[in-house]
Amino acid sequence: MPKIRKSSCPECGYEMDGATHCSDVEAMPDKGDISVCIECAAFLQFGDDLILEPMPESVWDDIHPESASQLLQIRKQILSRGKLH
Ligand SMILES: [Zn+2]
Repeated sequence: MPKIRKSSCPECGYEMDGATHCSDVEAMPDKGDISVCIECAAFLQFGDDLILEPMPESVWDDIHPESASQLLQIRKQILSRGKLH
């Protein structure tokens, strides 16, 4: 898991310093990439300096249907697992 700059989830404040890419576990996230908070399952987007920001709703219009269902699947897994803390 590549280390990224420590950034807090804008929704729950959970600090994350790692990211796992959906298809390539060693890939570093880029600005504009979508992420899911592993604590509260909020959809997030990497902004400038890879700081996590809430994902704008408009992203759903541009996102590939396959990626969208992947994100929803991840969120479902996080929510069904329950909170870490
Ligand atoms: Zn969160």
